[in-house]
Amino acid sequence: MADETSRQDAPESPGKVRSLIRRALGKRGVLWLGFLAAVVPLAVMLVVQYLWLVDLEKSSSMARRMQLQKRASVIAKEVHGTYAGAAEKLLAVPASRFTDDGVRLIRPGARSDGLAGFRRFFVVSFRTRDYLLFWNETSQTMEVPRLSDETVAVWAAVSPWGVRAKRGQPVASTELTVDERDGAHRMILKPIVDSGKRLVGLAGVIVDEGTFTTEVLPKAIAATAAAFGDNGDLRIAVQDARGHTVLARGAAGAPKKGGVTWRLSFVYTDWWLSLTDSRETPESWARRNFTFNLSLSAALALALLAGVLLVLRTASREMALSAMKSDFVSNVSHELRTPIASIRVFGELMRLGRVSDPEKVREYGGHIETESRRLTQLVNNILDFSRIESGRKVYVFAEADVAEVVREAVATFDVRVASAGFRIDLRLPEKPLPPIRIDRAAIDQAVCNLLDNAVKYSGESRDIEVRVEGDERRVVIAVTDHGIGIPREERERVFERFHRVGTGLVHEVRGVGLGLAIVRHVVDAHGGKVALETELGAGSTFSLVLPIAAGVPGPAQPA
Ligand code: ADP
Repeated sequence: MADETSRQDAPESPGKVRSLIRRALGKRGVLWLGFLAAVVPLAVMLVVQYLWLVDLEKSSSMARRMQLQKRASVIAKEVHGTYAGAAEKLLAVPASRFTDDGVRLIRPGARSDGLAGFRRFFVVSFRTRDYLLFWNETSQTMEVPRLSDETVAVWAAVSPWGVRAKRGQPVASTELTVDERDGAHRMILKPIVDSGKRLVGLAGVIVDEGTFTTEVLPKAIAATAAAFGDNGDLRIAVQDARGHTVLARGAAGAPKKGGVTWRLSFVYTDWWLSLTDSRETPESWARRNFTFNLSLSAALALALLAGVLLVLRTASREMALSAMKSDFVSNVSHELRTPIASIRVFGELMRLGRVSDPEKVREYGGHIETESRRLTQLVNNILDFSRIESGRKVYVFAEADVAEVVREAVATFDVRVASAGFRIDLRLPEKPLPPIRIDRAAIDQAVCNLLDNAVKYSGESRDIEVRVEGDERRVVIAVTDHGIGIPREERERVFERFHRVGTGLVHEVRGVGLGLAIVRHVVDAHGGKVALETELGAGSTFSLVLPIAAGVPGPAQPA
């Protein structure tokens, strides 16, 4: 009992499982399963790849944008550093000098290149009265300036500080400040405070716009080139407060939309830096990458799919061929058994002396001969087919009269089929045909195969025509029957090995599916072609077209 249970529970062997699946699905089902097993993961992979690429497109476009922003910010910092550093040095003025007399003795702080980058150095003292002095570079002294746009701009900028000084409010920070209310006179100011943190005056510089656009900005842009690796596609432009481009560096040409803009810090804060890729925007760059990667994946997937389809197609053909082969084996057995049985019966009747009438003896002898010829033809076809398949088939060409070969073939065939009521109408050309190099035995076999088919597939009809005609270029042998005909879609396939039209009347007709495959091979070896005209229910004409001219192979040529 226990034994039985364990036997029942035992897992099926893999072979059994496979054959169960095969039986459940059928052969086509197994192929479809294989197809799905390849296509579904491929589709999933493509979808995942697509989503990933979409993500990558977004992040890479962001990364590129961030890189441009980073560079813009570094340029802005560079400008900031240049001016802040220079101003810190120039405006380092001691508070002790802010006395009525002392203020005249003030000098700009020491700097290797003097006032470079600035138009003017000035100080304002709030000590006794508000007192503005400009530095005269030529006389190297501080002087009281005459009224000008500059003095007006400076007074406008410093007056709020003056108010603070008057109130004696302590100043928390002595950091540099920038006043850009007057765009033509941008100044950097440093509050000067005494020990009690009270404002005693201001030291300031007016920025020189010419130096800014021709020296400071280009230098700052160039300084970032090494760090960010210029590939020549980047265009860096600077726009002033009115939107005019005051400077452009890098790739020429109309910049694409979608670059980054960055405001300058410290001085010229109403000016803009714009960084654009002259070749493509970060978005189009990312999209190009996306398209390239996606097309690559799609192409690979297609190639893979084509490979899978090819394999499945081959497998499906192999399956069909193996089915045809097994049909072939049973057809051959049947084809052999029937004539052998007839021969044996007629032979026995004659041996036992059951037939004394000479007419009957001749008739039975005729049957035996017909059946033996039939057997010979079948065996020849099978042997030839096996030689063709293994590449050992040899054709022996010699000059011959085609009409003669056909006449002989028809004559021997006529004997076989006359008793069944068939009439073969042979039409030979009136004028002798030009001699042609052929393999006599092979052409005889091809004609016999066509005649055999004409008889087998004649249905009720009993008339067969064989025509031989030709001109100086070719010879045509045509065999016509008025039988069942061949459906349009089968016209090419009937020449395939083992293929038999699988409908209607044909089922009742014996055959192994090799006759026409051999006919085609023979005609190919002669450099010719087989033509087929047929109409379902009305009959068929098979024509062997053999060329006369050069190109016909030599006397002994393996196929
Ligand atoms: P088979 O031994 O089956 O006759 P063949 O290669 O000679 O093999 O022919 C292949 C198939 O072509 C046949 O099974 C038949 O269906 C079709 N066929 C050949 N000749 C004819 C014909 N004269 N009329 C109709 N069908 C034909």
